Amino acid sequence: MSQKLLLKNIGVEGIKTFEVFKKYGGYSAVDKALKMSSDEILEEVKASGLKGRGGAGFPTGMKWSFLAKPEGVPRYLVVNADESEPGTFKDRYLMEYIPHILIEGIIISSYCLGANTSYIYIRGEYSWIPDILEHAIQEAKANGYLGKNIKNSGYDLEIYIQRGAGAYVCGEETALLESLEGRRGNPRLKPPFPAVKGLYQCPTVVNNVETISNIGAIINLTGAEYAKLGTGKSLGTKLISACGNINKPGVYEIDFNLSVEEFIYSEEYCGGIPNGKKLKACIPGGASVPILPAKLLLKTANGDTRYMNYESLADGGFISGTAMGSGGFIVLDEDQCVVRHTMTLARFFNHESCGQCTPCREGTGWMYRILKKIEEGRGTTEDIDLLWDIQTKIEGNTICPLGDAASWPVAAAIRHFRDEFEWHINNPECLIKNYGISNYEYV
Ligand code: SF4
Repeated sequence: MSQKLLLKNIGVEGIKTFEVFKKYGGYSAVDKALKMSSDEILEEVKASGLKGRGGAGFPTGMKWSFLAKPEGVPRYLVVNADESEPGTFKDRYLMEYIPHILIEGIIISSYCLGANTSYIYIRGEYSWIPDILEHAIQEAKANGYLGKNIKNSGYDLEIYIQRGAGAYVCGEETALLESLEGRRGNPRLKPPFPAVKGLYQCPTVVNNVETISNIGAIINLTGAEYAKLGTGKSLGTKLISACGNINKPGVYEIDFNLSVEEFIYSEEYCGGIPNGKKLKACIPGGASVPILPAKLLLKTANGDTRYMNYESLADGGFISGTAMGSGGFIVLDEDQCVVRHTMTLARFFNHESCGQCTPCREGTGWMYRILKKIEEGRGTTEDIDLLWDIQTKIEGNTICPLGDAASWPVAAAIRHFRDEFEWHINNPECLIKNYGISNYEYV
């Protein structure tokens, strides 16, 4: 049984409320932190080794240490709750069922950063969550944890919620800031980075919901104790939202020593694949990370056991490995068509491109249309090479990571499942869709 930090009290009745959350140890980290200096808190966060949980995995303490601190200029903490990556729904789970863990983390983080105003930017489709968060904010305020002179510390903080309008690209931090300022959510050219010129041109830290929700546990445990959980540079715990062809879809808190095989097949987690079907492939970190066929998912190219952590999932690079990403774990069984699946993702990224960069604006559309052509049995062998060529022209040539995110799934699908693409071209029909069988070799 993995140690739980974020979800340990998730089953407690009423944990959504301030009263019950506090009874189970909530806000004790705020009480402790308010007696510490901001440098002491920063050192604890650095010592914890916490990486950003939104997908990029950048060390949180380092990000905070980049924050510029000019005299007389406000600083902001912005919480990125624009969780829109297909397959990723762990931030929603936290905000919906244990909202005070986020509020507690925001108070400590803002205090450390010297911010007196914090925003939660939440995706528009999570239409019922802002009310839950607003209620939690009002409860915290009524109990002296928000507003003026929090717990007689002399520190003031207000938290505001801003709803997005349903754009995936607003999960990119500078697009989010543009949207928060009331403009179209177009990513900004960098530098300057938000730590220097962010919200309203002021120094700003943008962190993901799960990242900030870890801060209370780090303060309570100390950074050094938190860092004892996990392995290598994968420290603490991680929320995984599991979906697709598994018996028990849901959100799980794992430690980083768990093997991928145990995560998929054990009753404590995904509970295996329904109807005795075989595992075909998996996208372990949200729609943008490379898909891996089962044999490379469970074991690395060297034959080592693959674990649910940053280093092990990335073992082999993008040739035979993948990435932890946001932790959106999508499982495909033997009945799933990789060509169709890749086309669906390409359609999503094409729809979500903001259109500023030519390679992304045009390339994502080309990839979708070619994939559709192949999926419908109208493709040619040259189309596979053209697809490959297009994705190489997008990756690394755009303002924001959405271009890369669109190209990686296509590259990985061709790399590992070229035979399925060729089948669709040589046989104007989908073998799986029409006959329920596949020419793919399963483990
Ligand atoms: Fe917009 Fe795509 Fe360029 Fe990002 S990569 S700025 S989404 S066009």
